[in-house]
Amino acid sequence: MSIKVKQLSKSYNNQLALNNISFEIEKGEIVGFLGPNGAGKSTLMKILTTYIRANEGDALVNGFNVMNQIKEVQKNIGYLPEHNPLYLNQYPKEYLSLNANFYKVNKARVEEVIEMTGLQNETHKKIGDLSKGYRQRVGLASAILHDPKVLILDEPTTGLDPNQLEDIRSLIKDLGKNKTVLLSTHILQEVEAMCNRVLIINKGNLVADQSMLTTKSKKQVVKFNTAVNDDIINELDELVKFERLNNQKFCLTFNEDINNAAELIFDFAVDKNLKILQLEEKQDNIEQLFKKLTN
Ligand code: ADP
Repeated sequence: MSIKVKQLSKSYNNQLALNNISFEIEKGEIVGFLGPNGAGKSTLMKILTTYIRANEGDALVNGFNVMNQIKEVQKNIGYLPEHNPLYLNQYPKEYLSLNANFYKVNKARVEEVIEMTGLQNETHKKIGDLSKGYRQRVGLASAILHDPKVLILDEPTTGLDPNQLEDIRSLIKDLGKNKTVLLSTHILQEVEAMCNRVLIINKGNLVADQSMLTTKSKKQVVKFNTAVNDDIINELDELVKFERLNNQKFCLTFNEDINNAAELIFDFAVDKNLKILQLEEKQDNIEQLFKKLTN
């Protein structure tokens, strides 16, 4: 288990920021931490990275406890804070070398992370003269200097223009091939573009924990003129799973890549000699839930 959070609570004076949160993240997952501003995302990330302490509960990073194994946790975790504190007067290599000293990693690793984050053509510029997207790369390069197993990214794409957004997203996805990533955002599309799972937090409460397969998949509710067996339904092309609503009615989940679910259902009905009495696209719960939260 890469991250294990158990009944974590945190208040600032009388302001409750996290209320009894529990979840687990397996090695290799890219998990989106989604919620409106003030929901508690940064607070949770700061606890996981040992910047602040929880009032109650426990959290483990790669098996190390954030309360009393701080050094071990920091070795295992890379953190990109929301307001990434960069020294604008320094050159990227200078900045990264300073951090390399702090982490006691060698200079060759600085060159390596510069390559990995695509900074090689920008090293002659001061950080202050870099675009926001490239500054974010410097932050990411710094976060992975000590080759941590877990990456915690707080709103990594805020303020980027669409091109920069695309680049940083694909860089994060790339990094996620070898690391566990937890990233926060207040934008659902962001999670859809990068993550395989989403945790939704609202007012300090964890209100959803879902795989993105279910959230991205195409759902249709269909009612046939007669009862249909499970075996027959399973013959539907591109079907990922189904839920039986009654003898004749089903909620069908199709592969996310397809855009002709209705056509597939019509073909299937013809093939099986069934009539369709009702067919409608079902909006995913997660989208409704998220809208309810962010509106
Ligand atoms: P998010 O990252 O989702 O925007 P935060 O974790 O920053 O949310 O904040 C959660 C709640 O805790 C908010 O109500 C916020 O005002 C409060 N909060 C955050 N940091 C502090 C702090 N240092 N002092 C007092 N209240 C804080």
